[in-house]
Amino acid sequence: MSTQPVPTDAAAVKAADRAHVFHSWSAQGLIDPPAVAGAEGSYFWDYDGNRYLDFSSQLVNTNIGHQHPKVVAAIQEQAARLCTIAPGFAVDVRSEAARLIAGRTPGDLDKIFFTNGGAEAVENAVRMARLHTGRPKVLSAYRSYHGATAAAINLTGDPRRWPSDTASAGVVRFWGPFRYRSPFHAESEEQECERALRHLEDTIAFEGPGTIAAIILETVPGTAGIMVPPPGYLPGVRALCDRYGIVLILDEVMAGFGRTGRWFAADHFGVVPDLLTFAKGVNSGYVPLGGVAISAEIAATFEERPYPGGLTYSGHPLACASAVATINAMDGEGIVENAARIGEDVLGPGLRELAERHPSVGDVRGLGVFWAVELVRDRRTREPLVPYAATGEANAPMAAVTAAIKAAGLWPFVNMNRVHVVPPCTITDEETKQGLAALDEALTVADRYA
Ligand code: PMP
Repeated sequence: MSTQPVPTDAAAVKAADRAHVFHSWSAQGLIDPPAVAGAEGSYFWDYDGNRYLDFSSQLVNTNIGHQHPKVVAAIQEQAARLCTIAPGFAVDVRSEAARLIAGRTPGDLDKIFFTNGGAEAVENAVRMARLHTGRPKVLSAYRSYHGATAAAINLTGDPRRWPSDTASAGVVRFWGPFRYRSPFHAESEEQECERALRHLEDTIAFEGPGTIAAIILETVPGTAGIMVPPPGYLPGVRALCDRYGIVLILDEVMAGFGRTGRWFAADHFGVVPDLLTFAKGVNSGYVPLGGVAISAEIAATFEERPYPGGLTYSGHPLACASAVATINAMDGEGIVENAARIGEDVLGPGLRELAERHPSVGDVRGLGVFWAVELVRDRRTREPLVPYAATGEANAPMAAVTAAIKAAGLWPFVNMNRVHVVPPCTITDEETKQGLAALDEALTVADRYA
């Protein structure tokens, strides 16, 4: 399918954007967003003829790449048949999306509440947990991102919470395991796991188990640094939740739908949460969609008693049609298996090899197509390339690294002192190698500061 850019003037597109679009997370006068003309597969391009290999998957959501023809066709077909219908009706395409999602989520997470994205999924999961337990508090990890709506931003531990932090009513934060910057000063993975679980149990004990509705965790924290937990950690958290009657919410908005080389990251650890939030990869973001997968026990709470929450566009037909086509394409084309293989055979070894040669690389970690390269000034002290939550001049080294990556034709996802290497699950060996070569070139800029 040809999606060549329609020739037009990049300056005109940028001026129109500048006139009326208010951008997320940005000082409006200080940004210069590229004018995107088109995208296909692992690439997108601008009006000036720059073509980028998309190693960000946009916001880590285009798991099946850009413009997958089967998904585009499914949206077009659904649009011709039924564009919109309220959530209160039974509709074939919505039931089919729910069936396909429930069939892939772990355990008995068999009921699906649809939202328009990740934050709304988190808001509703927390509401369900509070109503189910009758308890007020939710425990969340410092190194986390859960979304930008009211409850979700307060649950977030990432510095993006700071300007919106309303004293975080009902939220208590704890430290999860992270070997490279261990809050527990552990000397082994086992010790990190054991100490992290003890810290969590102490937190539960001092908060009062009878006041805690839920523990929310990203199965593999994404935005905060792609930290794969030790194998025993999530089973340990599950056991604590069972012991104290606490709902376990696993946030798989970023890690779910193939990103880690399995359908869900929870599958790596054999853990079944009570609630699982998803979005992004469910339909690669072609139409906004997210949701909560709900266990039989929590669903039963709302069999006779109404669930007091809803959204006008919950289970939107175009979004559901794109999810059905996406999941079927992922199955039919072995896309999850591809993500696992690329991670094991190409991306993981390639990044580790870069770490050996570039003194600025302090740590490389991840799985599937979900990796972080952590940049440091000093490998021994692990001093980050830029200070925590740096902005402006303080962030200049990372700005220089980001510019070098883009100049090499790669579009990265950069956060604080890390380059997140998160290409689509459909990435080929050749494209992965091309991306690694571009990264190799760009890391020489980081090395100047190390
Ligand atoms: N949870 C996680 C783990 C996420 O990564 C994100 C988005 N990056 C969200 C929730 C929020 O999703 P959305 O931006 O769709 O609201």
